[in-house]
Amino acid sequence: MLPTKRDIHTLSQKELIAWLSQRDIASFRAEQIRRWIYSGQADSFDEMTNIKKDIRGLLSEHFTIPRLSVVTTENSRDGCVKFLFEMSDGHRIESVLIPERTHDTLCISSQVGCAQGCRFCLTAHMGFIRNLTAGEIIGQVRDIKNMLGKQNQLTNIVFMGMGEPLANYENVRKAIDTFVDDTAGLGFSPRKITVSTSGLVPRMHDLGHDSQVQMAVSLNAVDNDTRTRLMPINKTYPIETLLETCWTYPFAPRRKVTFEYILMKGVNDSESHALKLAKLLKPAKAKVNLIPFNPHEGCDFERPEESTVLKFQKILLDRNYTTNIRLSKGTDISAACGQLRAKAGSGV
Ligand code: SAH
Ligand code: SF4
Repeated sequence: MLPTKRDIHTLSQKELIAWLSQRDIASFRAEQIRRWIYSGQADSFDEMTNIKKDIRGLLSEHFTIPRLSVVTTENSRDGCVKFLFEMSDGHRIESVLIPERTHDTLCISSQVGCAQGCRFCLTAHMGFIRNLTAGEIIGQVRDIKNMLGKQNQLTNIVFMGMGEPLANYENVRKAIDTFVDDTAGLGFSPRKITVSTSGLVPRMHDLGHDSQVQMAVSLNAVDNDTRTRLMPINKTYPIETLLETCWTYPFAPRRKVTFEYILMKGVNDSESHALKLAKLLKPAKAKVNLIPFNPHEGCDFERPEESTVLKFQKILLDRNYTTNIRLSKGTDISAACGQLRAKAGSGV
C-alpha cells in the first residue's frame, strides 16, 4: 500500500529542502515549488512548468496541495464575510474577512474549539476538539486570497477566530513563517499579523523571540478575582505575571501590546474599573481595544449601555491611552468576537 500523502503546506521551506536533498534534488527547487503554491496559487504539481517532470511526478506521489472545502459563505450588512470551512476529517472552522477602508483584515482560527473555558466565549462551549495543522491555518489565508482574486487588499491577519493560538504553538509558528516569507511564502508584513492570546505566558516569551508579529492580550479584568472567574488561565498566570511579560516583550521601538477588554455590564465596566485599568497599564506601551460584550445563547452576561462604554473610553483617553471601541462587525451573521462556533459543524 502506498503511504498516505502529506499536505505540502505543513512543510516549512527547511523541511522541504531536507526532503528534496534526501532524494538528491537541489535545494533551490524548494523555493520554486513554494512560489508556485503561494504566489501562483497552484492546485497541482503539473502546473509547475519550470520544474522537471520527474520531480513533479515524485512530488505528486508524496504530497497533495489541498484546499479547505467551503461549506458556506455569509455576508453581513457591514461587509464582513464569514467563511465556514470543512476539513478532511469533517470538522469545521470559521474565518472572517473584515473589510476596512484601505485594506482588508482576515480573522483566522487556530483550533477546533478551545480548552481555555473563558466564561463569556461561545467557542469555549465547544470544548477542545483538536489543534489545526499548519496546513489548515495557512489554508485559510491562501484559499481566501485565491477566492478574492489578484485585486485583493488583504494585508492584515489576526489570530482572533476559534481557539487559543499559543496552545497550538508549533503549528501557529510554522504558519506565521509562511505568512511572512516574502520570497516564497505569502509575503505579509509581520507588523500586520496579530496573535491574540488569553495569556499563555511561556509561549508569549517564545513568540517574542521567534517572530516579529504583534501581540494582543485578552485582559478583560483589572483584578485577579474577577479575571480568574472569567478566564481560568488566570489561576496559572495572574495579571502581574502577564503584564510583566507584556512589558518585556521584545518589540521594535514604539510598538505596543494591544489589550482587549470586553465590557460586561456590572462586571468590569465601572469608572473605578477604568481608573484601575489606566493605572495597571502604561500608555507608552499599551493600546486598549474595548469590546462591548457580544451576547450569545446560554450566556448571561450583558452588554453595557453605549454611554457607559464612552465614559470608560474617555477615562483612558484622558490618560493618554490609544483606545478604540471595537464596534462589533458581523454580529448579524454571528461573525463577531466570541460568536464563532462553526454552528453547522457542531454535530461532527
Ligand atoms: N483565544 C484567543 C483568541 C481568540 S478569542 C484570545 O482569547 O485572545 C478573540 C477575542 O474575542 C478575545 O479578545 C476574546 O476576549 C474576545 N471575545 C470572546 N468572547 C467574546 C464575546 N462574547 N464578546 C466580545 N468579545 C469576545
Ligand atoms: Fe479560548 Fe480565546 Fe474563547 Fe478564551 S476567549 S475560550 S482563550 S477562544
